[in-house]
Amino acid sequence: MKPAPVGYLRPTSLEEACRALADDPDAKVLAGGQSLVPLLSMRLAAPSTLVDINALPGLDGVEVDEAGVRVGALVRHADLLAHDGAARVQPLLRMALSHVAHAPIRNRGTTVGSLVHADAAAEMPAVLALLGGTVEVVSARGTRTVAGADLVVGPLESSLAHDEVATSAWFPALADGQGVGFAEISRRQGDYALCGVAALVRRAAGRVVEARAAYLAVDETPTVVDLLPALDGDPDGDPDEARLAAAADLALASLSPAGDIHATEQYRAHLARVLTVRVLREADDHARRRGQGGAA
Ligand SMILES: Cc1cc2nc3c(=O)[nH]c(=O)nc-3n(C[C@H](O)[C@H](O)[C@H](O)COP(=O)(O)OP(=O)(O)OC[C@H]3O[C@@H](n4cnc5c(N)ncnc54)[C@H](O)[C@@H]3O)c2cc1C
Repeated sequence: MKPAPVGYLRPTSLEEACRALADDPDAKVLAGGQSLVPLLSMRLAAPSTLVDINALPGLDGVEVDEAGVRVGALVRHADLLAHDGAARVQPLLRMALSHVAHAPIRNRGTTVGSLVHADAAAEMPAVLALLGGTVEVVSARGTRTVAGADLVVGPLESSLAHDEVATSAWFPALADGQGVGFAEISRRQGDYALCGVAALVRRAAGRVVEARAAYLAVDETPTVVDLLPALDGDPDGDPDEARLAAAADLALASLSPAGDIHATEQYRAHLARVLTVRVLREADDHARRRGQGGAA
């Protein structure tokens, strides 16, 4: 199908973009177009005007410091994936981005656009929520910061108002003693996941002191679950099979896996269970290596 006729604006300042969105409640931001254009073509979205933000200055940079990684709204998935500084400070970015779509889509699609698009099957909203990152948002009414955990409120529904432009996302750096893991199952490399899990573990004084996991393509929004209660209190600080299985049980108690044409409810639950054990082990190994001065 072809899209219905739609207006097009290409503002050259953020103020102009915000004014256009404020003046027209049916206008929509266009970033990489890798989600919006298919929706237009299938006539599942019918905005009056596309406010193309690609000519806005200052939104195409990745800034890295010891506190974290700031990703401008025009940074493409491919550029963030290739950014060695970002991968050093927060390795989970590269781990997860390597699963986002296929190369041509990563070349156009933006990481901030993926966050705002709010697809529960997408990798980056779950990563942002797991790490406690934020999104900077601007409108004619001012600027605000949205916590990653509050960004996705329903299927393809973010907490941004129609007149707001997300200008950047900030992902915290990996702190001392932390390690991360990521795994997903999809039918083919680059397809949306049937189930994906990102995990973060922190070790201190030989014990696990922080452990949580974020789930994508399981519930209607990305879900972050605190798994420390299952791993805490181990005298030798070594999460054994029984503790990892208990962590998976704990996660499943907080999840409501849905069935669809791609996977039954039971299969998704099974994947969530298996992947929880796998990524917790990976994150714990990573935390140990970093603790011993190994590579990030
Ligand atoms: C075949 C295919 C497979 C894919 N597989 C995956 C996958 O496995 N994992 C994955 O995560 N993604 C996948 N994607 C989606 C891809 O990552 C998109 O690029 C991304 O979801 C949206 O980014 P975009 O810049 O293209 O946004 P657009 O398509 O331009 O916009 C998407 C939505 O976000 C809004 N928006 C975008 N940027 C902003 C902003 N700065 N401020 C306010 N609103 C904004 C738009 O108004 C629109 O509602 C896939 C896409 C396709 C077509």
